[in-house]
Amino acid sequence: MIVVMKTGCSQDEIKRVANRIEVVGLKAHISQGIEHTVIGVLGQAFPELRDTLELLPGVEQVIPVTKPYKLASREFHPQDTIVELNGVTIGGNEIVVMAGPCAIENEEQLFSTARAVKAAGATVLRGGAFKPRTSPYQFRGLGESGLKILAQAGKETQMPIITEVMAPDYVDLVAKYADILQIGARNMQNFVLLDEVGKTKKPVLLKRGLSSNIQEWLLAAEYILAQGNEQVILCERGIRTFESYTRNTMDVSAIPIIEKVSHLPIIADPSHATGKWYLVPPLALAAVAAGADGLLIEVHPNPDLALADGPQSLTFDNFRLLMSQLLPLAEARNRKLATPSAKIKP
Ligand code: PEP
Ligand code: MN
Repeated sequence: MIVVMKTGCSQDEIKRVANRIEVVGLKAHISQGIEHTVIGVLGQAFPELRDTLELLPGVEQVIPVTKPYKLASREFHPQDTIVELNGVTIGGNEIVVMAGPCAIENEEQLFSTARAVKAAGATVLRGGAFKPRTSPYQFRGLGESGLKILAQAGKETQMPIITEVMAPDYVDLVAKYADILQIGARNMQNFVLLDEVGKTKKPVLLKRGLSSNIQEWLLAAEYILAQGNEQVILCERGIRTFESYTRNTMDVSAIPIIEKVSHLPIIADPSHATGKWYLVPPLALAAVAAGADGLLIEVHPNPDLALADGPQSLTFDNFRLLMSQLLPLAEARNRKLATPSAKIKP
């Protein structure tokens, strides 16, 4: 349940409500907005608590939250969450494009891609250093040396960087370099990992699990939020269905559903959703039309030679073409494309 406090209530009244919640073994999550302070009751609240809280001074109303996720719900947080990092905002009016190779292979590959995607309008640089691969014999990433290349390329092109963290023990290491921590689809329900990234102050991009429904995905986000990290970005990257023509099936409807039930930003990854480069632009456009706050796109200087996910990677030319097609759709949704501006501090 959610306790909405009266406008102008005192700090003592807020404290009293929080104490009342905590004395019965539940957790109070205080969120102070401009007009209202809202206190979320976390844990298994019992119905009588509602009557008790409603009688306390300063309380305007107590609203039961029917969904199992609380902090991730729009009921709890009606305004959109906007994640801000070094000049780039995700979840506001601008559509953010994150682009780069699936895996960092070497300096030349990453720097050339970083420059090309930046010139075409991307505002966040992606690249994997710790790669979850289906087969242990596939290229599994350069590890920390890859993170160093990514950080240098991000610095040179003045773009924040996003990269995946696969295990709780690696969170500190990856957070030392990355601006956004990516939780991959295969780890969406790695609850210990979710707890760990929740303890950091870095924004977290949470991909939808391969076979997860929207409620499970939002409950995974809840783990991160419950640790105190409010900067969570969701990413629809396709789910397993009976269709084998595409690598996964991109659930475009998840985008407006998330917008309705949650305040968290939602972006789309048509690269992993489709697995085929020529399907990436149409699905990217569909995601923006559906209201996505951004895109995650794999780009490689020579997809035929890529060590990971070549078939779904765009060439520089195809990425430029896609970027030129996004603007009319963004405008149709009253949105702007984020510009790679000088907003980023050197
Ligand atoms: C990736 O972004 O490179 C990746 C492995 O994605 P996913 O977890 O969606 O498969
Ligand atoms: Mn990939």
